[in-house]
Amino acid sequence: MKNISILGSTGSIGTQTLEVVRSNPEAFRVIAISGNSNIDLLQSQIAEFSPKYAAVYDEKKSMELKHRLGNIDTKILCGMDGLIEISTIEEVDILITSVVGNIGLLPTLNAIKAKKTIALANKETLVTAGEIVMKEALDNGVKIIPVDSEHSAIFQCLEGCNIKEVKKLILTASGGPFRGFNKEELIKVKSSEALKHPNWSMGKKITIDSATLMNKGLEVIEAKWLFGVMPKEIDVVVHPQSIIHSMVEFIDGSLLAQLGIPDMKLPIQYALTYPKRIESSSGGLDFEKYSKLTFEKPHRESFPCLDLAYEALELGGITPAVLNAANEELVLQFLDNKIGFYDIPNRIEKAMNKFKGIKNPYINDIIEADKITREYINKSF
Ligand code: MG
Repeated sequence: MKNISILGSTGSIGTQTLEVVRSNPEAFRVIAISGNSNIDLLQSQIAEFSPKYAAVYDEKKSMELKHRLGNIDTKILCGMDGLIEISTIEEVDILITSVVGNIGLLPTLNAIKAKKTIALANKETLVTAGEIVMKEALDNGVKIIPVDSEHSAIFQCLEGCNIKEVKKLILTASGGPFRGFNKEELIKVKSSEALKHPNWSMGKKITIDSATLMNKGLEVIEAKWLFGVMPKEIDVVVHPQSIIHSMVEFIDGSLLAQLGIPDMKLPIQYALTYPKRIESSSGGLDFEKYSKLTFEKPHRESFPCLDLAYEALELGGITPAVLNAANEELVLQFLDNKIGFYDIPNRIEKAMNKFKGIKNPYINDIIEADKITREYINKSF
C-alpha cells in the first residue's frame, strides 16, 4: 500500500489519478488532495476518498468549503502554505504534482527536501527551475518519476540502460489540431478550434500548447533536466497517431520505443507503482485499428514556439522561466480571443529578449522573473 498526496486533484491529471486509485483500492491510499478553487469537486472527492488533508489555494473558497463540511475528520488547509503542508506530510510516500503552472514549484521543492518520491506531472517545475530541482533531488536521494506520456516512455526505455550509451532522445508529438496548416491559415485560427485536440483529452492550457507546439518545446526542456542530456541530443518527430509515446536511440543505432493507446492513466499508474507494474483496464493495442503509424518532421517555421523553447534552453538562466511565464499569460489571452495565434510566439520572443542575463539563478530570481514577465506581457501590448 502506497500513501499518496495529490497536488491538484481537481484537474485533468488529478482526476485521472483518482481514477487509478479507484481501480486499485488495495494499492493506494489518498492521504491528501488539493485544488485551486473548485470546491464542489473537492467536496465530492473528500466524501469518496476521506483524505486526512485537503488544501484549497483560494483562501475564500477554503473558508466556504470548511463551512460546508462542518465537523469532519479531513483537515482543510489553504493558500501556498496549505499546498506545501500537503506536500510534506510524514506518512506520504509519493507526491503527484498535477497542478498547472508555476504554482507547483515551491511545494515540489519542499517535498523533495522532505524526501518524498515525486510523480511529476507539473511541467513548469523543471522548465523554470530544472537545474535547482534536479540538484535538490540528487542531494536528497529523491526519485523523480515523470508522468507526462513522452517522458514516461523515455523513462521506461531507459530502465536498466547506461545514459552514456544514449545517442538521442526522440520525443513524439501528435502535431495537434493544426498539423499541416500553413502560416496564412494559422493567422486566422481561433481558440475554439485549438481546443479540439485529435488524440488526447487534456486541460485547456496544455491543449493550446499542443496546438502551438509549445507543449513539445516545454517537454524538450524537461527532458534535458530529467535525463541529463544536451539540447542537441533531443529530437522531436511528429507522429499523429500518438501510439509511440517517445523513443531512445542508442549509440549502436538501435532504438527502443514505448507504445500504448493514448491514455494518461497508463503513465500515471506506472509512476505510482514504479518499479512494479500492476494490471490496468487499458488493455493492449488493437493492431487492426492502428494499422498505420506515420512520422513527419515538425514544421518549425509555421510553429515557432518549438524553436523558442530550444533557444531558451540554450540560453539557460532565467530565460526558460521567462518563456514559460510569457506563454502562460499569452495562452490565457488567446483563450479569451484577445490575441491571435502568432502573437503567442512573437510576444514570447520579445519577452525573452527583454529579460535575460541572470546565469545560475536562485529560486527567488526565477520567481521574480516569472512575475516581471507576466506584468510585461499584460501591460506592454
Ligand atoms: Mg506530453
